[in-house]
Amino acid sequence: MCDACVVRMVKERLSRRGFMCGAVASVAGGAVLSASALAATANVLPESVSFSNVIDLTQTLTPDFPTFEGGPAFEESYEYTFAKDGLNLKTLHYHEHVGTHFDAPIHFSKDGQSIDEIPVEKFVCPLAVIDVRDQAADNPDYRVMPEDILKYEQQHGRIPDRACVAMLSGWPQYVGTDKYRGEDSKGVLHFPSFHEDTAKFLINERSVYGLGVDTLSIDYGPTKDFPVHYLWLGSGRYGIENLTNLDQVPLAGATIIAGAPKFKGGTGGPGRVLAVY
Ligand SMILES: [Zn+2]
Repeated sequence: MCDACVVRMVKERLSRRGFMCGAVASVAGGAVLSASALAATANVLPESVSFSNVIDLTQTLTPDFPTFEGGPAFEESYEYTFAKDGLNLKTLHYHEHVGTHFDAPIHFSKDGQSIDEIPVEKFVCPLAVIDVRDQAADNPDYRVMPEDILKYEQQHGRIPDRACVAMLSGWPQYVGTDKYRGEDSKGVLHFPSFHEDTAKFLINERSVYGLGVDTLSIDYGPTKDFPVHYLWLGSGRYGIENLTNLDQVPLAGATIIAGAPKFKGGTGGPGRVLAVY
């Protein structure tokens, strides 16, 4: 349990800075929380969270980080330099869907929520990691099937309510190589992701907020019509793409803290994604 976090949260719980810490530790430190503070979080957060490890699920974003379209992830220029101006400050130019980033419902729906409109409690979730590294090693076009979810549940229990379900394919090892995008001679990409039947299953049969992948897209590389994007985002849920380090968290029992950006009207955007366990 994060004792320091609880102590700090109690001291600072009325401040904005203390909120995230308090949210994660709310039940672990429940004995020292006021009833009103508990009531404010009881309906929206996992029942119990304590942790001693923090894992960064975020890729370091560099200009040459692989993108879906194949161009640079971003361009940067210095507006101020320490040598000349006494401070460093850059201007970055990028589109919303680069690096470890979020897909908001509006990205693939007519009037879904934009990234700033998603309630923050949906960004602190039980994390279920579906390990398909063996399947993906044999087939770069592998898609996580409903059977993979059922097999996971046989070993780890039912996908928790309000979860984020993430695919562990092992693809981050290919960042820096052509295999991450897997573009063939016809321009078709090849990397694993989720099957639309699995999206339907998680939407209809489970209670899940987020879908995460350690590849470029919540649809697999060769897709032509993006059925998972339309289904998942169209149902009001969000996606996270280009995650990493999912092999460093337990397949069940971790909590994801998905730090989405807050651009007004944004269709998504890069963020900082952590897991604690
Ligand atoms: Zn995206």
